[in-house]
Amino acid sequence: MRRPFIAGNWKMNLSQDECRSLASEIASELAGPADCDVAVCPPFVYLETVLNAVAGSSVKVGAQNLYPEPSGAFTGEISASMLSDLGVSYAILGHSERRHILGETDAQVFSKLQAALASGLSPIVCVGETLEQREAGQTNEVVSSQFHGSIAQLSEEDFAQVTIAYEPVWAIGTGKVATPEQAEEVHSNLRNVIESRYNTSIAAAVRIQYGGSVKPDNVAQLMAQENIDGALVGGAALSPESFLGIVHGAVGQ
Ligand code: PEP
Repeated sequence: MRRPFIAGNWKMNLSQDECRSLASEIASELAGPADCDVAVCPPFVYLETVLNAVAGSSVKVGAQNLYPEPSGAFTGEISASMLSDLGVSYAILGHSERRHILGETDAQVFSKLQAALASGLSPIVCVGETLEQREAGQTNEVVSSQFHGSIAQLSEEDFAQVTIAYEPVWAIGTGKVATPEQAEEVHSNLRNVIESRYNTSIAAAVRIQYGGSVKPDNVAQLMAQENIDGALVGGAALSPESFLGIVHGAVGQ
């Protein structure tokens, strides 16, 4: 019932030519209607290049961040309306690198989320625990608190536009993937938390991606879990073979 959703987060990587050719290769493979939603999220400066490269395919484009104000004296920042004006569909918000390296708080993530929705962008909001928090047995508590702090104040209608990415910080870019069982336990707990805040049908409909060292050879096992609906992919999204391998693996092809 939940359509799989694979998104590639290219982070601060690749040149303009590399972005163009990676996007073109992905788009030509996914030219027709796909069995899952697919998005690529290049650096801001290459969004237009990538939008042009995927035009006419089923691949959508996302940004990796945005600034919550609509316009004004915010040197260096990019607003949600600018992204939507360009043709961007998604925005990754609250990625752990922004939370931990740039000190982004739940409250800031929530204001970005409101701005994204007000401009018609579909947000992917990231949550996830550090290794220290997992070892202290705090995983579900941390994820629930991030959900309450950065998402749960949305109305039911707005929440229906949101995808959540569970990304254990210790699994991002480390090659250490959570086992399907470890990921499923958190996804299932998070869905229960969502059900308590909203209702059963909203909780059943929201897509929860897993992120953290997803590769073509582990995606099928992750996707086989009841509450895992897709993947947010970092390193393996930077080559067409591995990203497309993940897209195909996610839908059992
Ligand atoms: C990410 O940064 O969102 C991510 C999941 O990275 P990786 O796939 O490289 O672990």
